[in-house]
Amino acid sequence: MTKSKAYAAATATSPLALTTISRRDPGEHDVQIEILFAGICHSDLHSVRNEWSEFMPTVYPIVPGHEIVGRVTKVGSSVAKHKTGDLVAVGCLVDSDRTCPSCQEGLEQFCPNMTLTFNSPDKHLGGVTYGGYSDQIVVDERFVVRVPSNLNLAGAAPLLCAGITTYSPMRHWGVSEGKKVGVVGLGGLGHMGVKFARAMGAHVVVFTTSPHKREDALRLGADEVVVSRDANAMQKHAGSFNFILDAVSADHDINAYLNLLTRDGNLTLVGAPAKPLAVSAFGLIMGRRSLSGSPIGGLAETQEMLDFCGTNNITADVEVIPIQKVNEAYERLLKADVKYRFVIDIASLKSE
Ligand code: NAP
Ligand code: ZN
Repeated sequence: MTKSKAYAAATATSPLALTTISRRDPGEHDVQIEILFAGICHSDLHSVRNEWSEFMPTVYPIVPGHEIVGRVTKVGSSVAKHKTGDLVAVGCLVDSDRTCPSCQEGLEQFCPNMTLTFNSPDKHLGGVTYGGYSDQIVVDERFVVRVPSNLNLAGAAPLLCAGITTYSPMRHWGVSEGKKVGVVGLGGLGHMGVKFARAMGAHVVVFTTSPHKREDALRLGADEVVVSRDANAMQKHAGSFNFILDAVSADHDINAYLNLLTRDGNLTLVGAPAKPLAVSAFGLIMGRRSLSGSPIGGLAETQEMLDFCGTNNITADVEVIPIQKVNEAYERLLKADVKYRFVIDIASLKSE
């Protein structure tokens, strides 16, 4: 075992603070990674504050972070996929059972026995897994992906969650040229959704509660921007969308968006507000519309998404912060004040 510096929260109301955690020595199939950058996802905040207690109760202390980019420092004797010095990444998953039907289809995100990067039972060391707000991590090679060499590393970190979580449902629901696609909520996930929908050739409309994000939305690739509190502007798009991705972190009215779908249109929730959302049956019945959800993505699709980003030169727009500012960043997330993903420069942790 080795000691690793990390930032952890001791309770649902404590700030994140410096601590020391243990990491296992790399086993035969393991990759040891020096973490360089870790993105801050709103899910980190939901988990730290135990807002999802009903579905995934948080075990304390919690070390969040599932948007990890780093350099391989050591590999186990059977590791073939990665070698020392490689730039690699780890997302939300660090293990799965590999035998269930979902794993066999490469859809590890649906494995009933998956191990999340943080706050899942740790079968190696006991306790729970600890995430990327730390200086190193040890992960089975199957759950480590390659980062295309042309991508900025800080900007690549958010691809591991915000990226794959928006890319996967867009592929699943056939986002492509000729389709009209809405993205609701211009935060970390939403801004990646805009970039992907644009790169896939769709006509992209951003729905935001923040009028000052209009210029950014257009720069990020939107064709149109609608301030969602403007009922008239919303009504103009009634019945016209093939697909809407909802990436909002808080309670909001999804019926307003269901009404914008065309016949057989789909609204996929990736945002995960703690409280249940009310759904009008008529919004779905009229037009045979569907409402669904989507969690992250499997390992093969995560690599496909990274390669797509390499080819199309796509990274997140990031504000790089030292880890000492993480609590401040959380407060800003709650005010939708992020452009458009905070990423921790882990060098700041090493110097503590
Ligand atoms: P984020 O950066 O904080 O962005 C959330 C955005 O939602 C905000 O920027 C804001 O956009 C909008 N918003 C916030 N409060 C709102 C309100 N009261 N009403 C309407 N809009 C509001 O969060 P994120 O990291 O992108 O995560 C978004 C959600 O996705 C979180 O719930 C997170 O847990 C979830 N998530 C799910 C998965 C998955 O696998 N499904 C993976 C990662 C994250 P505007 O200013 O444009 O309105
Ligand atoms: Zn996330």
